[in-house]
Amino acid sequence: MNGGNLWQASCQEYVEPMALPAQASVDLLVIGGGFTGCSAALAAAQAGARVLLVEAQEVGHGGSGRNVGLVNAGLWLPPDQVEAALGQEAGQRLNAALGAGPGQVFGLIARHGIACEAVQNGTLHCAHAPKGMADLQARFAQQQRRAAPVQLFDAGRAQQAVGSPAVHGALFDARAGTVQPMGYVRGLARAAQQAGAQICQGVSVQRIAHDGQAWQVHAGASELRAERLLLATNAYHQGATGAKLPRLTPVHYFQLATRPLSPNLAGSILPGGEGAWDTGTVMTSYRKDAAGRLILGAMGLPDQLGLHRAWANRALARLFPQVAGEAFEYFWSGRIAMTGDKMPKIQRIGPNGLAVYGYSGRGIAPGTVMGTACAGALLAGDEAGLPLAPVDGYAVPLARTKGLYYETGARLLHALGARL
Ligand SMILES: Cc1cc2nc3c(=O)[nH]c(=O)nc-3n(C[C@H](O)[C@H](O)[C@H](O)COP(=O)(O)OP(=O)(O)OC[C@H]3O[C@@H](n4cnc5c(N)ncnc54)[C@H](O)[C@@H]3O)c2cc1C
Repeated sequence: MNGGNLWQASCQEYVEPMALPAQASVDLLVIGGGFTGCSAALAAAQAGARVLLVEAQEVGHGGSGRNVGLVNAGLWLPPDQVEAALGQEAGQRLNAALGAGPGQVFGLIARHGIACEAVQNGTLHCAHAPKGMADLQARFAQQQRRAAPVQLFDAGRAQQAVGSPAVHGALFDARAGTVQPMGYVRGLARAAQQAGAQICQGVSVQRIAHDGQAWQVHAGASELRAERLLLATNAYHQGATGAKLPRLTPVHYFQLATRPLSPNLAGSILPGGEGAWDTGTVMTSYRKDAAGRLILGAMGLPDQLGLHRAWANRALARLFPQVAGEAFEYFWSGRIAMTGDKMPKIQRIGPNGLAVYGYSGRGIAPGTVMGTACAGALLAGDEAGLPLAPVDGYAVPLARTKGLYYETGARLLHALGARL
């Protein structure tokens, strides 16, 4: 260690470099090259629009190239809570759109031949302790009422499915799956380029303004003019004057990946190829990649490699004793943008301008759904097709303090080795 970000190292997709023109006039300007921005660029280019996407670093630099790769059919919040927060009709609309999200993601992957280790074999939400089953039972009942293809596994069946003696049950969701997330986001960008979009990397947008007729955007040495604007910078937003986004609660999540395991050992862990995470207060995620590496993840600050490695060694011995002591090859981390109610927001930022942010840790399918829908709404000049009604403003009370609270809690639990 440290091989850095595994997804960067093993990515098979490539985005053709394109220089940002000194001047351009487009139908849709997208700022940010993650799942949201790239799926919007793809949808708009396919609809025949002139599209320009500007990314400050490189496509996948943000959460999209750093995440676990679990393609879930919904948010962290169970569907009843979504309906309670939004009202029944609006909640049902969002739940239905996100429930179909993995289908949309795997459909795009198949249609555009995206090389991203896609596996739609379901996910397992595992009980980390017997008390975790109450949460899973409640989620199971809610999903069953919506006719979702879910199953509740008892401890024996869950232990077999995970290949671990340390799980006490699991909720299986057949709609979900896993991807190599950097491959997926770069593949979206590559497909958007093939559909005619300009994707320009390494240029940060510095100023955004609307002159009453169109958006005027200043990026590097370029002056860009756009009929419509989508701001898709989320947790990695780099200040651009004229764009007023709320301060979101930052939560850091790190991952470690082993060397490729022998076929026997790799076959003993998640033999069905599902992605998994648990019900612990400080959640642990576990999955494999196509090479047979085991990838563990948990919440924690990026600069504490020693602490995280010690935690990962203990977690490995407890969860998968068959690979206890296995060396880790890669370590990386990323920043998650949490909203106060753990629900994403679509925000109006001016005439024909939207921003999307705050997936609160669930952005692969939701980012694809929202990005695609925002592109459609902006091109049509009609918000009716959006899965979530836009807001004119939003604020997270005490955002920074809440972030500190999450980080300190995770640090203490990891240092103590506790499983709450
Ligand atoms: C460690 C981790 C694990 C996660 N695990 C999962 C998971 O398993 N499943 C799941 O569904 N979700 C997961 N998530 C959440 C998910 O990754 C995010 O919600 C998603 O990537 C957000 O995508 P996005 O396109 O909105 O933003 P991002 O991918 O963050 O992209 C924003 C981009 O905007 C660019 N940018 C910022 N400012 C400017 C500017 N001024 N000019 C130009 N460009 C700019 C940034 O460089 C960045 O590339 C995880 C997140 C993290 C961090």
